[in-house]
Amino acid sequence: MSTALILSTLIVISLTFSSVALSLRQHEVPDDLMERGLNAIGIDANTTRVRNVRISGSQFRTKSMITTIALDGMDSTVVPYGNQTITYSYGEGGLKQRIDRFAGLGTLWVFARPALEPMDYSVVVQDGEDGSAAVIRVFDQSLNISVLFDPDTYLPFAIRTYEDHPFFGPSTNDLRVYDYIRVDGLMIPRHFKIIYNNKRLITDFLADEVSVNFDLEPSFFNVSAERGNLNIPVVDPALTAYIGEKYANYLWFGRFNFTAMDFDAQQPYTDMPGVWVIRMPGVANYRQILLETDNYVVVLDAPSEQALVLLEWVRINIGKPVSQIWPTHHHHDHALGVPSFVENGAEVVVPKMAQSYYANIPGAKFATYERGAPYIVQTSDYRATFIHVEGSIHARDHSVTVIMPACPTDDSTVLVFDADHVVQAQLMATHNDHNELSQLVNAMAKHRVAKSAL
Ligand SMILES: [Zn+2]
Repeated sequence: MSTALILSTLIVISLTFSSVALSLRQHEVPDDLMERGLNAIGIDANTTRVRNVRISGSQFRTKSMITTIALDGMDSTVVPYGNQTITYSYGEGGLKQRIDRFAGLGTLWVFARPALEPMDYSVVVQDGEDGSAAVIRVFDQSLNISVLFDPDTYLPFAIRTYEDHPFFGPSTNDLRVYDYIRVDGLMIPRHFKIIYNNKRLITDFLADEVSVNFDLEPSFFNVSAERGNLNIPVVDPALTAYIGEKYANYLWFGRFNFTAMDFDAQQPYTDMPGVWVIRMPGVANYRQILLETDNYVVVLDAPSEQALVLLEWVRINIGKPVSQIWPTHHHHDHALGVPSFVENGAEVVVPKMAQSYYANIPGAKFATYERGAPYIVQTSDYRATFIHVEGSIHARDHSVTVIMPACPTDDSTVLVFDADHVVQAQLMATHNDHNELSQLVNAMAKHRVAKSAL
């Protein structure tokens, strides 16, 4: 969604933003930089002759920042192929924009959509007093956009927004624009890249066709009533980063609206009191485990939606501090809740090799484990061991917890808490990555975990 508004800002300059010139070659920044930029694009302040613009292309790809395998890479694909048409109209009622996008999904998304049909959809954005988007409402004054101009041509080179990312802290989200073409007097870019923090390339869009002042159906920007109901005010830069990421990965399902009362909490293992299984409403396959000790609670896995609600549940129902949070792996759907737990006093338990990934979380303290030195939580009733599944093809820091009674016998419960090795339990034969499954089984065999383990 931020991309949509960034694109609108490129053409419509009534939005508030600051501007800076590239300083790579120590150019002076001219006082009339903005005017030069507009002239370069072909916009004359005295005319409103441009009624609409359309940019259309058959090459659209996106990568995922949420689910990388390596902690510092961009090795996971959301959209391997796709196409996109972006249409702007500058008629009555201010700027309108519509994005029509066809996006094939990468194989990773089999966990959410086993059939992997392409996403074929449209988004409409309306600027102005009553501005809205089909998915989120955005306030112009909160955009805080900079435009970076090429010092030779004065054409925009990067349109930059600022976010407070839950892991990376203050971050830049750039739309880089290249390869301009002149159409009907306007300079319009044909190559668009979204680059995060100057290094993570997320989206790549190549336009084949650009049109200006073509015949446009009056109903083209209409939005149906059902879609209009989804407006959510977004003014918090951390929430903006969060929704932006999830939306770009087709993983934004709306706000988490449940309370602590809605959680289903059990201690189902009679030989391991203090081991709580928490089920979230509306998410059949997703569970968290709480390890209760005499003085504190350890939370296993850290999705962000329910983090604060889960903390409240622990306060009400157990009344002990959450002193440790353990994300199964760094993927953001399992780890973006970490900052909320840290803010509330929890230490972060991760493999030693992953500590730097979380280092920018304000106030984070760590307990780490590595080969030969597992992290263990032990009470008189149970023993929980945190193990790094080395060489994981899902996430380099992928870990599991093995929980069993403090003095196990042949028929004791043995529990393995894991995320994402098995993603479609109901479609075991066809919809799981068998490399990931065998990796988990091999790791459990190596650590001599009982065959009867749950
Ligand atoms: Zn994952």
